[in-house]
Amino acid sequence: MNITQKSQKLLTTIAEIGREYSAKPDIHLIDPFNHFFDKNKNLILNELDKQDGPWTRRELITRFLLLNAVLDQGPDIEGLRQLLIKVTNELYQREVRILHRPLDFFKELGISIDKICTVHEGIKKVRAPIWAKENQSNPEKYNLFMDNSKQVLNYAVFRWGVPLCVPLILEKDGKTLIDYLERCNSAELMSKEIKDNERYGLGKAIGDKAGHLFAKWYVCSFNLARRQDKGWQNLSFEIPFDSNAGRIFFRTGFLLNWANIKDYIEWEVVQKGKGKGGLNYIRVTNIRGKKSDVALKDNGLFERYKTICAEYLSTKKRPRTIEIQQIPNALLLNTDYGIDELDNGLIYIGTNFCLNHENSKCKDCPIKELCEGYNSNPDLIQNYRT
Ligand code: SF4
Repeated sequence: MNITQKSQKLLTTIAEIGREYSAKPDIHLIDPFNHFFDKNKNLILNELDKQDGPWTRRELITRFLLLNAVLDQGPDIEGLRQLLIKVTNELYQREVRILHRPLDFFKELGISIDKICTVHEGIKKVRAPIWAKENQSNPEKYNLFMDNSKQVLNYAVFRWGVPLCVPLILEKDGKTLIDYLERCNSAELMSKEIKDNERYGLGKAIGDKAGHLFAKWYVCSFNLARRQDKGWQNLSFEIPFDSNAGRIFFRTGFLLNWANIKDYIEWEVVQKGKGKGGLNYIRVTNIRGKKSDVALKDNGLFERYKTICAEYLSTKKRPRTIEIQQIPNALLLNTDYGIDELDNGLIYIGTNFCLNHENSKCKDCPIKELCEGYNSNPDLIQNYRT
């Protein structure tokens, strides 16, 4: 097998695992959304355009997911999703209807921050010991207020307030969030728009990974997109490159198929001695925009990549180089799998087997047969952390 075939085999195997495993938020637990789901907890898709007060169900769920994507950037996904669900439900019980009327969050800021604080304390008691064990850390360090902040106002106004302001300003301008999102030519362009738009962009409140996670939920996990053209399908956005993806792609040898270790060091994707315990640190977000000369030499892969850029991502009509973070899209083109399934598989493997310390569960890992770190290069596992 050549490098392209080997890499494709790895990705389709991970995506097949991801097909069985859903990593999407439990939005059926949001009280005001209860009636959007059937008795099997499936979203009723043919009723997404039904009005719920002034907004459609599709609009309200999209507002929630935008907020969820921003908050998902914190530590302990399990804890922060519980926090979001509980705070939202408790605010609705007090008639602070933050999805129907985002201004309520600010009008009743006292109630909003009190709820965030009390729910956070309750979750901390349960989750801190579990989180500390999983991450070989100290439970005292458990804090869902992002940016290492202990101040609730900073967290509430910046991380909750900014994504709630987006539909608020759109409403003032006579637009809905879903119309605004779907005027982009692809889900990939939409993921950039929600960050960079001068008037409505979330700016520093959202990173690239969270923008792509939102695209995944919107297009694939919840089938919210009304557009059905190639720009709005399961290969139409980049993979949310998080630490799970970075660790697995590095340890399995996937990244080293496309560039060598010197390149990754020069690009500061690999930072020598800057990881936990003085090990090497993999900063996967630094891969964005880096080119692979190796991939460019494979004509078949380059043709697929051109199709992905021109028809799916809508990023470039005639690319002359191949960006590493978009190689998964090209490798999955003409297979049965999408970026959503690949990402779900990476989350499953990264949280259950490929752990961010020396005691990864390689022997039980479902992709061990395809893993270079496990089979021939243990250095990739022992000396690198994300
Ligand atoms: S075999 Fe080990 S290093 Fe390789 S992906 Fe699985 S857990 Fe990670």
